[in-house]
Amino acid sequence: MSLAVSFAANKPIVKSFWALGTDIKFKFYEQGFESALEKALKYLFWAESKMSVFNPKSEIAKLNKFGLYFPIKLSPDIYQLIEMAVEHSKMTDGYFDIAVKNLVDLWNNCRHKNQMPDKYQIEKILFSVGSENIRLLSNYRVRLKNATKIDLGGIAKGFIADKIKEIFYHHGINSAIVDLGGHILAIGKKGESLWKVGIQHPSKNRGEIIGIIEVSDTSVVTSASYERYYNIQGKKLSHIISPKTGYPVEDFISSVTVISSNSTFADAMSTALFAMGFKKAINYIQKTRLDAIVITTTREIYLTPNLKEKFICTDDSYRVISTNEVIVL
Ligand code: ADP
Ligand code: MG
Repeated sequence: MSLAVSFAANKPIVKSFWALGTDIKFKFYEQGFESALEKALKYLFWAESKMSVFNPKSEIAKLNKFGLYFPIKLSPDIYQLIEMAVEHSKMTDGYFDIAVKNLVDLWNNCRHKNQMPDKYQIEKILFSVGSENIRLLSNYRVRLKNATKIDLGGIAKGFIADKIKEIFYHHGINSAIVDLGGHILAIGKKGESLWKVGIQHPSKNRGEIIGIIEVSDTSVVTSASYERYYNIQGKKLSHIISPKTGYPVEDFISSVTVISSNSTFADAMSTALFAMGFKKAINYIQKTRLDAIVITTTREIYLTPNLKEKFICTDDSYRVISTNEVIVL
């Protein structure tokens, strides 16, 4: 979460909204964006109403409640999102997993009671975790197995960002920034220049950056635990849960940023890499050649080779290392 975007001269027209539980900002650099913005907002609020777990009438709430008993018919877009989430789960050996909702609920409950769960509770719930419990049927119907429930929090913003990108493309918007609460979609370029996207400093206040990445036509997505975490008995626990152990991820990664023209991929991947922990994440990055920035609590910034020329570190106390140079055993 939480990326700041730094701008130089020519001021954008900024439109701010509250949605998806976060501050949403659109920044336009050209006139004539009104109908594109209207369509984007319409889509955003529509998607939110279908996905919200707080609204008992949403498609996801219905799926979580009744999908265990019979197939639930979804809107084609929501079905597509679940399908993509399942694909990403397979691609990441199950580290990205929307079927973690029972665990998310358990840890939330424990936070309210300020009590750690016992390991038998976790073991019982682990049985319901895993994307194999999501059955994608014909005619946009989905069925859930083993009392599983789904949580789209790790991928929804990315999916919506991709849809907004399509809308903007069809409306001829060539230069804009969409900030979905730290999930940055950079459309085109800033005039003749690249966009400068600030990467949130993992141990400083919101808006204070650790570096800048220069990009065009891409998404920059960060998963971290510095803003959203569970606090139980004074212990800070990550909001990203390992589907393997059932426990919040404890590792020395402070944040993972993924840069990709596919926002859905960037969102799912940043969550997955965080869930993997440092060793597995670096291994995965080396194998798949995705573009990522991994920042550790030991003050190191790991950059994939593609990003070497594009990233400017603004905190000298951190060491910048290429992921190529790392040997993980
Ligand atoms: P943010 O909300 O900070 O942008 P992420 O995209 O990293 O965060 O997603 C974190 C959210 O995804 C959690 O709040 C939870 O709802 C859900 N989640 C937790 N663990 C996992 C996981 N291993 N795989 C997929 N989603 C997860
Ligand atoms: Mg994510």
